[in-house]
Amino acid sequence: MARYSGPVCRLCRREGMKLFLKGDRCYTEKCAIEKRNLVPGQHGAGRKPKIVGYGLQLREKQKTKRYYGVLETQFRNAFEKASIQKGITGENLLAAMEHRLDNVIYRLGLATSRPMARQIVRHGHIQVNGRKVNIPSFVTRTGDVIEVREKSKKNPMILSSTDATASRPAPTWLEFDRDSLRGRITATFKRDELVQIQLNEQLIVELYSK
Ligand code: SF4
Repeated sequence: MARYSGPVCRLCRREGMKLFLKGDRCYTEKCAIEKRNLVPGQHGAGRKPKIVGYGLQLREKQKTKRYYGVLETQFRNAFEKASIQKGITGENLLAAMEHRLDNVIYRLGLATSRPMARQIVRHGHIQVNGRKVNIPSFVTRTGDVIEVREKSKKNPMILSSTDATASRPAPTWLEFDRDSLRGRITATFKRDELVQIQLNEQLIVELYSK
C-alpha cells in the first residue's frame, strides 16, 4: 500500500490545525502550527479565501484521512462499509478508524504517533489474541487482547514511547497494563471520546453521498 512520505507538518499547516503526526514534537513549541500557522506554498501568507460548501466537506475529509494516516481508497472503502452498518454512518466511520490496529497501538501509548504505531505493527512487534499481526489496518474488536510480542518487550522504541505517554490516559474503551505491555479492547469506540481534534464527520458523509 502506497504511503504519503513527504513532510507531515505541511499537512497540518494545510488543514490549519494540529494533526499530531510527529509524536512528542507536536506538544512542544517546535510544532509548526505553534510557530508558523500558514497554508503551505508561495501564497500561503496571503489572504485566506473563505471556504464554504463543497470546499468545507473536502477539507473535513482530507483532515480526517490525514489524522488517521489512511489513503483515499482505504478511507472510501471504510465509508462504504460504515454506510451499510446499523447506526449513524459518520460515527461508524470514525469507529472503523479508531479500531484499526495502528490507531489502537497509538491510543494504548505504545507509540507516540500513528506513523510510529504503524511502523511497530509492520515490523512484527505486536500480537492480537496470541497471534502475530503485522497489518496496520487490521480491525480490532471488543474483547481482543493486543500485546507486545515477548521478543519485542525490550524494544527501546516501544519502551521509550510507553514512558513518554505514561501521563496520557488510554480511552475508556481500552485498558492497558504498562508492566506487561498488554492491552484489551473493552468496548466499542464512543464518539464523545474523540477530544484530541475537532472533526465534523457529517460533512464527510455529505461529500461521499453526492
Ligand atoms: Fe508537525 Fe505535529 Fe505540529 Fe503537526 S502537530 S505541525 S505534525 S509538530
